Amino acid sequence: MTGDPFTSTLERTFARLRDQGLWRRRERRQSPQGPSIQVDGQTLLSFASNDYLGLANDPRLVEALCQGARRYGVGAGASHLLGGHSEAHHELEEALAAFVGTPRALIFSTGYMANLALLTTLCPRHGRVFEDRRNHASLIDAARLAQADRHRYRDVASLERALAAAAPGGLVVSDGVFSMDGDTADVPGLLALAQAHGAGLVLDDAHAFGVVGPQGRGTPAAAGLGHDPALVHMGTLGKAFGVFGAFVAASKDVIEALIQTARPYIYTTALPPALAACASTSLAIAIAEDHRRVELNERIHQFRAGATQLGLRILPSSTPIQPVILGDAARALDVSARLREQGLYVPAVRPPTVPAGTARLRITLSATHTRADVERLLGALSALPPDTA
Ligand SMILES: *Cc1c(COP(=O)(O)O)cnc(C)c1O
Repeated sequence: MTGDPFTSTLERTFARLRDQGLWRRRERRQSPQGPSIQVDGQTLLSFASNDYLGLANDPRLVEALCQGARRYGVGAGASHLLGGHSEAHHELEEALAAFVGTPRALIFSTGYMANLALLTTLCPRHGRVFEDRRNHASLIDAARLAQADRHRYRDVASLERALAAAAPGGLVVSDGVFSMDGDTADVPGLLALAQAHGAGLVLDDAHAFGVVGPQGRGTPAAAGLGHDPALVHMGTLGKAFGVFGAFVAASKDVIEALIQTARPYIYTTALPPALAACASTSLAIAIAEDHRRVELNERIHQFRAGATQLGLRILPSSTPIQPVILGDAARALDVSARLREQGLYVPAVRPPTVPAGTARLRITLSATHTRADVERLLGALSALPPDTA
């Protein structure tokens, strides 16, 4: 008799996840993203998406996508080096380079792949990669794929010690805005340390572009930094820009190296050209409509002031990511379920995504939330039963 080769092993994994309160399930959304969403048939006020500027369902983007599809069809049909690269991709790359202020930019199908491409291209085997402990999973996986000699650091001071103990060179790798805590990296500090040690800095601004800095130009611009050949800047198009895809903005040589050698760039189908055209429209809107960032910042201040008054455990974040720390996974799940009963969609984030003991609500705010939306959230949070665990 030939048995199922998977079930017995997988059942052990499932049992462990259930025991630890880490079992996950997907819900079905029936509406576009926005403050009000439909999930599993219920209408909910959402504080869950990374659509920070409220562009994911903007009619101008929907129209740009349709127009792009009428011009280019749906699929890119091939990889970038074998006929898949379109005029729409190229125009988007030029607009992104101008936006970030770098000589060139390159589009990737996802941010995950852009990070795999960056580290495997910029780090030789056994090269040294210094990563912030809170970096996004794709940056951690990228260093593994690059077969790098990996170091994790806690802050700029511990990075300085790690660099001082190592030979010159290597790569410092950091999120610009940390995706689970919402705080911003000390980009000038990281860049100065990297330069002093002959290292490069890879900065993942997935949660910063569109939101942080003048016109949403990211964390280096927010700190007053211009283009620097030691800085390789990565961003995504699926968060504040409301579309899909990702990009790297950097010096001519770094971009050329990615095109010539990066396997996650070369061996995959190009992003649909219509999405590239749509992203160009989104970028132009995000640059022009400063009022979206103004409104978003008003909501952030409103939430923080209210949460502080309620005595909630919030973190030092000035971005749309505003976690409320609850402690263990069960408590976070329970609070999220209670909010859900009141018509609020606020997901709980549990280990291993965040460190043990810091399970939380990951509240995200958008420019399209109203003052009343945030008041409703604060009202629901104020009515929570005290932590009895
Ligand atoms: C979302 C995210 C990514 C991955 O981007 P995708 O385009 O969704 O694959 C990479 N890095 C960070 C910090 C992110 O938040």
